[in-house]
Amino acid sequence: MSASPYIVGNWKMNGTRAMLAEARAIDRAAARYPGVQVALAPPFTLIQPFAEAAQAIATGGQDCHVAAKGAHTGDISAPMLADCGASFVIVGHSERRKDHGESDALVKAKAEAAIDAGLGVIVCVGETLEERDAGKAEAVVSKQVDKSLPSAEAIAELAPGRISVAYEPVWAIGTGRVAEVEDVVAMHAAIRARITAAYGDKGEGVRILYGGSVNAENAAALLAAEGVGGALVGGASLAAESFVAIIAAAGTESVA
Ligand code: PEP
Repeated sequence: MSASPYIVGNWKMNGTRAMLAEARAIDRAAARYPGVQVALAPPFTLIQPFAEAAQAIATGGQDCHVAAKGAHTGDISAPMLADCGASFVIVGHSERRKDHGESDALVKAKAEAAIDAGLGVIVCVGETLEERDAGKAEAVVSKQVDKSLPSAEAIAELAPGRISVAYEPVWAIGTGRVAEVEDVVAMHAAIRARITAAYGDKGEGVRILYGGSVNAENAAALLAAEGVGGALVGGASLAAESFVAIIAAAGTESVA
């Protein structure tokens, strides 16, 4: 497993070019934490200018199409993301699963398209509140992992860290309601078991991130939890001040 925590910001449908100054501030601050791998997924429109300006952090997309090109109005392919400077893409975010009816099979195909295009991929999974209250959280998430991850054949050449799974309980996203650390630990262990079942030893390099209302106050406890390899951060990644506080919770500032 990669030693560096992976802290990824997801700007969702937020940010015009005026926000590039904020992204540059995040980039400058991230350079002071060499032990933390930091990445940001701005909207498509900002990927190229941000990737060109970023020195210390990776730039990614928030979604991609399964096809490399073709008659898919409004969609963006994984090779197009790579072409404008992205090095990774988030797939299967619960907002896409809900708003666009994305199935596990589609998420898996997108993840495989991303791998084919040379991108890293973050595959999102997570249960709804109804599923948790019904005692089905682990079963739901385990099934999502089984069916959404790229197949073992698709990752034959996979470098450690190329695939991450983000556990994001749907009820914790953007709500200010964060999962209990003990529930996060239990779910990450369940996800790790599914990753091992899918990939065997090769799966050791797959990081599991937590996402859902991570902020400056709760980041340290979540990031220190057993099995948590980083965080996927929505709202708190939009401002350098709050995002850098999360980066700081993940690592030590260099003194040089
Ligand atoms: C997300 O959308 O991936 C997310 C975790 O959002 P927030 O941090 O705002 O809950």
